[in-house]
Parts: sequence; structure tokens; C-alpha cells
Amino acid sequence: MNKLNVNLEKKGIVTNCLLFALPFLFLFGVVLLMIMDYKLGDTTKNEIVSGDLHVYRGQTIPVDYIPSLVELSERASWLKTKKEIDIRAKESLEKMILDAEKEGMCLVVMGAYRSPEYQKEIYDSVSSDKKMYVAKPYESEHQTGLAVDFTGCPLNSNGVRDDGVKRDELKNDFSELPEYCWLVKNAYKYGFEQSFTYYNEEITGFPAEPWHFKFLVK
Ligand SMILES: [Zn+2]
Repeated sequence: MNKLNVNLEKKGIVTNCLLFALPFLFLFGVVLLMIMDYKLGDTTKNEIVSGDLHVYRGQTIPVDYIPSLVELSERASWLKTKKEIDIRAKESLEKMILDAEKEGMCLVVMGAYRSPEYQKEIYDSVSSDKKMYVAKPYESEHQTGLAVDFTGCPLNSNGVRDDGVKRDELKNDFSELPEYCWLVKNAYKYGFEQSFTYYNEEITGFPAEPWHFKFLVK
């Protein structure tokens, strides 16, 4: 057998192998799609931000996901803004803020629900070197309506929240405020947890955010 014939025979074997493998590859693809569809397509509202269905970089919210939103109380919202949140998280969040106040902590929500359009606006507005800190639309927990960004707020001499005070504390790293320590110790009692920590950066794809907490749906 000359060299040309050997090469032709080798080519034939490779072609046969490919033809033989094609149906299996096709079957593998179908099974993979079925698993993905089971994981994302059957997602109900109750499964978002619970179990394995957390939302972060690369793990998206289904495009038809629409949260049931309600307005947070004026006490819970930053200044006079009217923040919106998933109805299931409202009662627990407002109770947590009031209970914290009884212990001398003043917490307010400065970020809550964001629509995909607003998230896109934010993402597009940051320079490329800052994009690692910002989620794309459908990859932000804020779009679920279950995540909030906290900050501390000043109290007046009667121990009541004072919106008249210049809010210099907003410039501080939230992790340095006593309010953050309070959340670390107590948020879980109200069903909240810090989403992005130093320990899960590699999983979530986001750097630690001490101010960002999510409500875990039971
Ligand atoms: Zn946030």
C-alpha cells in the first residue's frame, strides 16, 4: 500500500468516526438544552434568590421575570426618595430597620429595585475600567426587587432620624459604620444576607459590597 492510499484510509476512518459520533453529540446537546431549560425556563418567582438560583455575573434573570413591587416607607427610604421592593421583602426589611433603630442604629435604603433599562443606563454610563463593579441588565440582583443597598443616616438629639443633616457619612466605607456590624450580626434573623463578600468573589464575579444585602425567599 503506498503513502497516498494510507492517507486516504486514515481520512476514511476519521470521517467514519465523525459520522458515528454525530448522533451522540446531537443527543448530548439536546439533553444539555433540556437541563438548562429545566433550570431557567421553569423558574418561578419563588425560586429567584433562593436555593441555587442566585443572580450574579453570568447567572441571569429570565427575561419574562417581573417582580411584584411595593413602595418602601419613607422612614426606610433614603431622604425623600420612594424606593420600590418586592412585596415579600417589605415587612421584614422595615421591621429590621426599626429594630436596628431601637439599638441606636440608623439604616436607610439608598438603592432597591432597578428595571433592566435603568441597569443598562448605569452599565453604559461607567468607563470600561469600572465595568467590573457594575452588573449588566439581567445580571443584577436589584432587578429581582429583593436586593437593597444600605447606608447609615444621622440621628438628631432625640434619637430620631434627621434628614436635615449634611450626609457626610455617605462618603465613608459602609463597612466602617456600626450599622454594618449590626447587619452582620442580625440581618439573617430577618431573612437578609450580604450578597457579595470577600469569600465569594470568584463565584459571583463581583468584588465585596458591604452595603448590598438580599432577601432570601423561603
Ligand atoms: Zn447593590
